[in-house]
Amino acid sequence: MSGTNTTSTTSTTSTTRATRASSYSNILNCIKWSSEKYRTSIEFSMQRLMTLVIRINSTKYTPKAKKKWFEELAQKYDLGPKEVKGGFLVVDPQNDFCEADLPNGSKPGLPVCGSTKIVGPINRFKEHFPDSSVSLTKDSHVSGEITFASTHEVDPFTVIPVTYTLENGDTVTKLEMSWPNHCIEGTVGCELHPDLVLTGNERIYRKGYGTREAYSAIFNTLGEQSTALLDDLNRDDIRIVFVSGLARDYCVGNTALDLAREGFLVVLLEDCTAFVAEGSNDAINTKFENPETRVYSMKSTDILNESYIEPTDRLYPKIGGGRAGSDN
Ligand SMILES: [Zn+2]
Repeated sequence: MSGTNTTSTTSTTSTTRATRASSYSNILNCIKWSSEKYRTSIEFSMQRLMTLVIRINSTKYTPKAKKKWFEELAQKYDLGPKEVKGGFLVVDPQNDFCEADLPNGSKPGLPVCGSTKIVGPINRFKEHFPDSSVSLTKDSHVSGEITFASTHEVDPFTVIPVTYTLENGDTVTKLEMSWPNHCIEGTVGCELHPDLVLTGNERIYRKGYGTREAYSAIFNTLGEQSTALLDDLNRDDIRIVFVSGLARDYCVGNTALDLAREGFLVVLLEDCTAFVAEGSNDAINTKFENPETRVYSMKSTDILNESYIEPTDRLYPKIGGGRAGSDN
């Protein structure tokens, strides 16, 4: 692995990971326990817990309204607010991955089927989080990128050997997928989708730039930590991460797996993501089922479960329908 500063980070990270992993297994035990006690399925119990997580993390409800959810959390799941601190992550919601023509009229570099439909659900889910617990990532390349098909003069989606030089001067060759040109910094394709509702105070991380390919927002394909996202989640004591964005079978999936491996409880929001190809999507699903890297799938609408919320619990009037123009 790389450099001396990685060593010191690793020891702190593994302590944090162990702490988080124990609260994670505590959460899972509580779900088992509550589903037995309340004769509900584990799946339902998990979904109900996530609904509570969203509500107590949400900026949309008064402390008075939150009180009964705190009580349910304590009674039914034996969990306190700290153990269910959540964060929302949107991976690479950029123009080049979306289906529609770009704002300047040109075609997106790597459009993902179904991508435009996810913007509305992402906006609605994001409304519940304070900006400080919302993170976005941006795939960021240069022309002549190491994994662009054009660089190697091959057809896109060909698997090619790529040789990387490590910090100590050694080289390592890895097989990588070659991609059409996409998300080149400074182009409109690299910009975030214009229909995303952002305040400008969210955290944004660049990934995949320089001399390394990265799908995950945590580690590049050589396993080197490539962004500050993990450190920031650790510092903020976030235990549960809701993951969304593009594409499910590459950057979203690998980010979710890395987060799970790092001991977070990871929920992938199915209606807030879309995939490139069936084959790679099936492959990532198999990894989600692995107990070591378990990723839970849910629909954001099921978690928000809007019909359950009494109107008097709301601090602000209900915001209906999301943003127009996201999918029609
Ligand atoms: Zn890329």
